[in-house]
Amino acid sequence: MGPKKQKNMSLRFNAISNISKESEAGVSKPSTKITGIFGESVFTLKTAREFLSDEAYKSLVTSIRGGKKIDRSVASQIANGIRAWAESKGVTHFTHWFQPLTGTTAEKHDSFFTLKSDGTAIEEFDAAALIQQEPDASSFPSGGLRATFEARGYTAWDPSSPAFIIETGDGKTLCIPTIFVAYTGESLDYKAPLLKSVEALNKAAVDVCNYFDKNVSKVTVTLGWEQEYFVIDEALATARPDLIQCGRTVFGAAPAKGQQLEDHYFGSIPERVYAFMRDYEQEAYKLGIPLRTRHNEVAPAQFECAPIFEEVNIAVDHNTLLMDVMSRVAKRHKLVVLLHEKPFAGINGSGKHNNWSMATDTGVNLLAPGKTPKTNLMFLTFFVNTIKAVHDYADILRAAIASAPNDFRLGANEAPPAIISVFVGQYLSKVLSDVESRVGNKFDEQDEAILKLDLHRSIPELMLDNTDRNRTSPFAFTGNKFEFRAVGSSANCGISMTVLNTIVADTLKQFKTDVDALIEKGDKKEIAIMHVIQKYIVESKKVLFEGDGYSEEWHHEAERRGLPNLKTTPIALDAMLSEKSQKLFASNGVYSHTELEARHEIELEKYIKKVQIEARVMGDLAINHILPAAIKYQNELLKNINGLKEAGLPESSYKSQLAILTEISNHMQIIHAKVHDMVEARKIANNIENTRTKAIAYESQVKSAYFDEIRYHVDKLEHLVDDEFWTLPKYRELLFLR
Ligand code: ADP
Ligand code: MG
Repeated sequence: MGPKKQKNMSLRFNAISNISKESEAGVSKPSTKITGIFGESVFTLKTAREFLSDEAYKSLVTSIRGGKKIDRSVASQIANGIRAWAESKGVTHFTHWFQPLTGTTAEKHDSFFTLKSDGTAIEEFDAAALIQQEPDASSFPSGGLRATFEARGYTAWDPSSPAFIIETGDGKTLCIPTIFVAYTGESLDYKAPLLKSVEALNKAAVDVCNYFDKNVSKVTVTLGWEQEYFVIDEALATARPDLIQCGRTVFGAAPAKGQQLEDHYFGSIPERVYAFMRDYEQEAYKLGIPLRTRHNEVAPAQFECAPIFEEVNIAVDHNTLLMDVMSRVAKRHKLVVLLHEKPFAGINGSGKHNNWSMATDTGVNLLAPGKTPKTNLMFLTFFVNTIKAVHDYADILRAAIASAPNDFRLGANEAPPAIISVFVGQYLSKVLSDVESRVGNKFDEQDEAILKLDLHRSIPELMLDNTDRNRTSPFAFTGNKFEFRAVGSSANCGISMTVLNTIVADTLKQFKTDVDALIEKGDKKEIAIMHVIQKYIVESKKVLFEGDGYSEEWHHEAERRGLPNLKTTPIALDAMLSEKSQKLFASNGVYSHTELEARHEIELEKYIKKVQIEARVMGDLAINHILPAAIKYQNELLKNINGLKEAGLPESSYKSQLAILTEISNHMQIIHAKVHDMVEARKIANNIENTRTKAIAYESQVKSAYFDEIRYHVDKLEHLVDDEFWTLPKYRELLFLR
């Protein structure tokens, strides 16, 4: 190998030549029966029964079921029980595990080991360590909360989510799920507000359920998420600084074969990825995450997993935990998991569909169509209230899914659009319009016809026919639950679930007020309910849309209907601070005004930082990878042209070379100039004091003004420059090497 060849062994070519060796790395494990390992790393109630005294066990159960406080002496017994269990599994350290507003999870490890005052070494885990900890929280975002109140943060045990053990290599750590709050009471995480929203919805939904069934005393929220992700070879990913630093490729020309054949969807899973999936699934099962489906997604190298649904707070924990587990296990397989919403331009992005419903303690799914007129009416009530909630608070729901990476999906010509609409299917559309068409008529015997419809049989059948079309809807009814599809793949679902729970709670409260008012005027209960349902259908029908959500016509139609279409995060976030929003969250006890302001600030700051990092990475790659590669190739061309000239050949023999040379030059000049201008634009933006104005500047003056244009010219160069000189792995390598 000559010296020149050596120099060309960039990370890219090294990675490519090693890929076949690495693919052997698959950690193959004998398959275990799932039931044999399910929940083995979780302090389940069954384990608790074994490790706790009767008193401690009962107290824990009451606390989980009814949310009652556990007193200190019992907490100390529980702590001992948890430690005994953890030690029996070889655990030496514990941590309070929480979900700070950075969007990842946080841990602070402490050992059970301690010294008594006389120097005796013991292992200990007391009530205080279980219940409350003070992480050094100064580096977690608090949106100015901590500065304002000079308040430090502390983590507090959340008994509703069971403790679990995380294995990293040979180390095992006991994780205590906690909420993260400031001493002044403001929440600093995603979990505390979620729990508050669940409580708000519980109260409001129980009140409404009692119209139909006095036995209902608790309503829980259920969530089944579907997580999409990409899997890429680790060495190739490492050769892409943009993937490592931004989670997405900022450059990259479309491969000859993209997803146009759609042959990846439901195709067989590549062996290497399959080994990875089996491995992370095993870890997930031990952690009690009930994964059930795995399959290829539409895009090449894209996959999806989904668990059986659970109570929303557990489901959110499990999703956050799984994102960690996946990333960790991928390393063992020399793979990288990309949870970014849009890692590759021109290729489908990743979402996290949130399947949401409500269930009573009498075992009824409130969004499952009923079998009798009475249960039909209950179904219609919750169904219509949810639609009304989405209609009334569409802007706040949109704000809940706003993030820099999700803008690449929602704002672009890809599912789902930034316009929030609700899909219910033909059959239910008809039911709704039947109810609506009785305006002015009295509801007496007539409504019986509607309520006697065979909803529970007809709806699921009809939903099946419609699944293809409704893929384009951001919020779709899918037979016995709503599916919120606009959530980003890297998001913490706690944010959107908190909003959804709160808006539905608020609407149900209003519903009860409205129905009670009619009953007071002398209406029969069922008649009053039908009237309010009808009123709500009329008021919210403009949010219903059955057509193609990606189409140009829908964008026009939505505008005509007055539906908001907020394409960028800095603007979409405004809804959080509106008067409507403040009233909504305060009256339901979910966010105070201060908390909303803090969160708004944090989201804006995250946005700014992400765009800033991308801009820097673009500049770095353009100047240090792209232009040098182009220059090298230009020199080759020049050598060639000069050689041909010297040999006395006519210009016609190097005409093409000259043309390529010129083309490359043109793109290079633009790239260089634009990168320079982009840096200047960033400097101006950085000097803006107001966070919102700064975020808007980053969106319009940096991102929109330069990203696409710089990328366009870089991608052109990728097509022009000799492949040997190109240092960044290309899409065809990232996406199709197995
Ligand atoms: P698919 O949409 O692929 O046909 P399902 O409709 O069975 O599959 O479920 C999709 C997701 O919805 C799964 O994660 C499932 O657990 C969840 N899900 C099903 N029923 C409910 C419910 N009542 N509440 C919340 N999530 C649910
Ligand atoms: Mg689905």
